[in-house]
Amino acid sequence: MTLQTPLTDAGRIYKMYASRLAKLNIFTLEDLLYHFPFRYDDFALTSNIAEVQPGETVTIQGQILSIENVYTRTRKRIQRATVTDDTGSIEIVWYNQPYITKYLQVNDTVALSGKVDMFGRKLMMTSPQYELMNNENQTLHTGRLVPIYPETKGVTSKWLRRQTDKLLHEFGTEIYEYIPTDILTKYNYPSLLESLKRIHFPETLEESEKARERLGFDELLLIQLKAQQRRIEWEKELVGQKFDIARFKQELDTFTNSLPFTLTQSQTHAVDEILQDVGKDKPMNRLLQGDVGSGKTIVGAFIMYIAHLNGFQSVLMAPTEILAQQHFETVKRFLEPFGLKTALATGSRKTVKTVNINPDQENNTFDILVGTHAVLNEKITFSNLGLVVIDEQQRFGVEQRSIIREKGNNPHFLTMTATPIPRTVALTMYGDLDISYLSDMPKGRKIIKTWLVPKEKRDGAYDWIRKQVKELDSQIFIICPFIEESENMTTVKAATVEFERLSKEVFPDLRLGMLHGKMKAKQKDQMLEAFRNKAFDILVATPVVEVGIDIPNATVIMIEASERFGLAQLHQLRGRVGRGDKQSYCLLFTESQSPMTFTRLKSLESKHSGAELAELDLKLRGPGDIFGTAQSGLPKLKIATFHDFALVQRTKQEAKELFDRLDDYPKLAEKVREITVEKVSPD
Ligand code: ADP
Ligand code: MG
Repeated sequence: MTLQTPLTDAGRIYKMYASRLAKLNIFTLEDLLYHFPFRYDDFALTSNIAEVQPGETVTIQGQILSIENVYTRTRKRIQRATVTDDTGSIEIVWYNQPYITKYLQVNDTVALSGKVDMFGRKLMMTSPQYELMNNENQTLHTGRLVPIYPETKGVTSKWLRRQTDKLLHEFGTEIYEYIPTDILTKYNYPSLLESLKRIHFPETLEESEKARERLGFDELLLIQLKAQQRRIEWEKELVGQKFDIARFKQELDTFTNSLPFTLTQSQTHAVDEILQDVGKDKPMNRLLQGDVGSGKTIVGAFIMYIAHLNGFQSVLMAPTEILAQQHFETVKRFLEPFGLKTALATGSRKTVKTVNINPDQENNTFDILVGTHAVLNEKITFSNLGLVVIDEQQRFGVEQRSIIREKGNNPHFLTMTATPIPRTVALTMYGDLDISYLSDMPKGRKIIKTWLVPKEKRDGAYDWIRKQVKELDSQIFIICPFIEESENMTTVKAATVEFERLSKEVFPDLRLGMLHGKMKAKQKDQMLEAFRNKAFDILVATPVVEVGIDIPNATVIMIEASERFGLAQLHQLRGRVGRGDKQSYCLLFTESQSPMTFTRLKSLESKHSGAELAELDLKLRGPGDIFGTAQSGLPKLKIATFHDFALVQRTKQEAKELFDRLDDYPKLAEKVREITVEKVSPD
């Protein structure tokens, strides 16, 4: 048996616990060892029984004089014991834990940790942690800093403590050091085994913090080394298609001049960076990051045009059907005048639905295929795929990328995202990508006025919305509470109820439409199209509208239960308005009373850049929550956090220096080979 042994093969107990532990993402013994406490109960204070003070939390050790189950007058079962040491005795009580009287028996020596209170004139310890003492034992549950772990049904901290302690003893020799000694010395880090011992069973809090820092260092370092490795492989192994740029200067100018607007400075800059990439025979692997509404689509269209001029097909992948449809229309509008043939593939990968393309026929002649995951369908073939543009890349996993790559001959990749990954984080964690930023907004965009609306002003807000519709011919989004992580029937039902209420009671004089995730693709398109064509004044929607929808005449978005979203996500939602030149507004509602929520939501009133909000969210809520349930595409971290910029910086530095001499550190190199960097919800 090794630490890599799956729990299901690791003996009877683990087998029994395997399915419960899976809920904590623990699948091997090693995972169990890397399941760290999130805090410690301080039971380090030990006391003689005579010196115990009411109100304090202490650990005592003594012999059990008596222990029994008793029924109270209200027929509840309690367990009472008396414990004594050389200095005195004390009463102990537990509530409804009858098994204790089997485990602890008269004359046993025990350690008990818990809070002591006065009951009448007697001191009593209630519901303490307990532990049988034998000759040599180091206590695990009492008399020390006691680790408290993330738990799940049937897996308690107590159980985890026991197992972890056992693993550390049994597998101690198997836990080898892989970080070079000079680095450990430089930062004064304990060895790996020592760090693991100290994070689970520290003597002091400082000790546990140092251990945690070292383990976080490991985690970030490995991710960074892995990213560098991927980059090298990408550059070394793949030979791509070199696009000729110079020859088509004339055509590109004509295309630029055909646009109904002038490109922003950073759009032009991004196009230049991309053109340089695709002019090489290495396939491009570039991320285009731009705030909501910064105009990423047109940059994509530009590059697809140059691919076409060079005789290559492009595919443009979108995360949802609604978006695929919208991109299809946009691409048609911009590129069909230049003779490009556009096709659409939606539905699922298995049951694909197409427009302007026949999946049963080889070598279709489209120039651009827009679609969802459906473009991955086996039947869709390309004669000459040279470019893949992915919108909101985080929803496409590594596997999907490789499928699409194989449909072409190492096509160039451009991924577009509005996810405002802080620059520092992006630079380190996406070591295998080049990044272009769209840092300015198209001219004439106004700041979206944002208000956190107090409850008592709700009716006022409805009246104001009515005025916007009637007097300014504006259109409105109302976003229903977001209930579950993925859209399900509960969300839909709540949205339906809200829709009924709004239609009948609040806005009987206006035209309301509804959009939710469980509608058929075709219905969604129709609804959105109708809204775009002003057949409705208000679109009541679940958060499906979050990503990418572009309806320039919509100028107000009202968001219910806004506390359930991350700031970055709210910013995305807010970005559904303010896409034309009319003044736009965002109204936030919440029932929450929490001061923290108030501060968070209030920040949207003054902050208008996604990057700024992401940094703030990172500070306020930690990385796990930054993007709410939206997938961030960031690696999942177990130990370190992205807002620990010092550590991110430190590991970046060390990874850079280590990478070239990685061969001198075979254990580290092996570790890098082994790790699979798990992205936050890859699919
Ligand atoms: P996002 O970056 O959020 O995907 P889009 O590409 O959907 O943004 O662009 C948002 C809107 O801005 C679209 O209606 C688009 O036509 C328009 N747009 C893009 N670039 C410019 C520009 N340079 N000037 C004015 N409008 C622009
Ligand atoms: Mg977009």
